[in-house]
Amino acid sequence: MKLDVDVLRYLSKDDFRVLTAVELGMRNHEIVPTELIDRIARLKHGGTYKVLKNLLKHKLLHHDSSKYDGFRLTYLGYDYLAIKTMVNKGVFVGVGRQIGVGKESDIFEVVCEDGTVLAMKLHRLGRVSFRAVKSKRDYLRHRSSYNWLYLSRLAALKEFAFMKALETHSFPVPKAVEHNRHCVVMSLVQGYPLVQVKQLQNPETVFETILGIVVRLAEHGLIHCDFNEFNIMIDDDEKITMIDFPQMVSVSHRNAQMYFDRDVECIFKFFRKRFNLSFQESIDDNDDSDEGKDEDGRPCFSEIERSAGFLDKELAASGFSRKDEEDIQRFIEGGAEAETNSDSEVDLVEDLNESILLQDEEHENKGKDESCEAAESGASEREDATDEEENEMENEAELTKSLNKQRRHAIAATRRGRKSLASRNSYKDKGGRSSHNSKLQKQLSGW
Ligand code: ADP
Ligand code: MG
Repeated sequence: MKLDVDVLRYLSKDDFRVLTAVELGMRNHEIVPTELIDRIARLKHGGTYKVLKNLLKHKLLHHDSSKYDGFRLTYLGYDYLAIKTMVNKGVFVGVGRQIGVGKESDIFEVVCEDGTVLAMKLHRLGRVSFRAVKSKRDYLRHRSSYNWLYLSRLAALKEFAFMKALETHSFPVPKAVEHNRHCVVMSLVQGYPLVQVKQLQNPETVFETILGIVVRLAEHGLIHCDFNEFNIMIDDDEKITMIDFPQMVSVSHRNAQMYFDRDVECIFKFFRKRFNLSFQESIDDNDDSDEGKDEDGRPCFSEIERSAGFLDKELAASGFSRKDEEDIQRFIEGGAEAETNSDSEVDLVEDLNESILLQDEEHENKGKDESCEAAESGASEREDATDEEENEMENEAELTKSLNKQRRHAIAATRRGRKSLASRNSYKDKGGRSSHNSKLQKQLSGW
């Protein structure tokens, strides 16, 4: 996917208003009925329909009329909402090249007003399961199928919270700068993932440092769970920075021992293969005491003094709750759909509305739309089945016809002095309770 933030320049206030209306509608619809979008966005003279077409053209929305006429956000649409918020908050002013593609994330360089370059991670948790659910065409069980928004947002929140907490305890991690929706902005690590490094000056020292981090994490009540050469960055001075935290668990997790041993094993295996380290010798040579280690020098989980819950306070301070942790673990472990219960949905909407209001205030203060610099041409494009699906846009003429028709209806309904009726539509507005809609409208009316 190419993140062409230049599009932001050409999006109007109304465009963002409608995009946000779709985001809010996705709180309880996988595909948000077009009429509902119109009711939430409340643009004059059926303007919503024109805007929808524009958003569709820029691939910020996906149109679906298989069950009823509606739209959902694409990843790109969600990206733009987060980026716009970040830009309005003054976190950065431009997005540069893509520097990392993870299984469930995309990482870009972003540049601040003073020229500082930071890293922006866009989480894509649930990308795979979202596709699986989509293929089932199970629109009625909409709860589970829109949760890529929820899961990606949770992953970002968790990453931000852990990064902050770990930094407080002097772990070598990037500096957490800001988070919004599924996006985390952090300091840019100068260095390379260890997997790219073929030679080290002091492999033994680096090995001991890394192993020391695993042990110290456990002492602080945590296990990384993905501690390997892909998530360890190293610079020219062989200084280590650990990254990628959404899958971390507490030492009180029922599989803690297994996760701990797996992290340790990954490090041993990598150093043995890549740097020919022989652990028996290196440990015997460098270590006076083998206490707390097995015969190969592997630290024993059971012998580490662990303080479970040690970081709880710091994590809670960043807004990451136990319930968030349960939801995300359920997804990571089971590969299953995390159910978004009503509480978390409410949280989600509150957060979103807060950001809309904030955005609005900042927007008003600045008096003009902020714009982002164009993504450098080097931004890599990625094969992604979901994007391909999104690119299979419906027949343009048919869509235009349908949107125009709805627009005419909306205008006619306004003229008749009443809201357009949903009765003719085939969708069931399950969660779209009118009282709730009016609340959303109120909160949106500042836009
Ligand atoms: P994922 O969860 O998808 O594995 P990671 O956080 O591991 O994502 O990031 C993927 C890649 O992006 C990393 O291997 C690294 O090359 C790059 N990267 C991530 N964060 C940073 C950062 N703060 N500074 C520099 N590069 C980074
Ligand atoms: Mg990673």
